[in-house]
Amino acid sequence: MQTVHSLDNCKERSCLSKRRYWSQVDALVMASRCVERRGLRALGTYRCRNCGGWHLTRRA
Ligand SMILES: [Zn+2]
Repeated sequence: MQTVHSLDNCKERSCLSKRRYWSQVDALVMASRCVERRGLRALGTYRCRNCGGWHLTRRA
């Protein structure tokens, strides 16, 4: 039996579908590369509570 953790589930999904970086520096380096290569807008980084790593996020 699983206990209810809808919010955690939601976070876990986005966590699993994203790349994970183990330091903010790594995430920032990749973010700047993505911006250069694809001409994207600046990407943000955030610490993930689910995996304890770092992910990139788009900012409008
Ligand atoms: Zn994560």
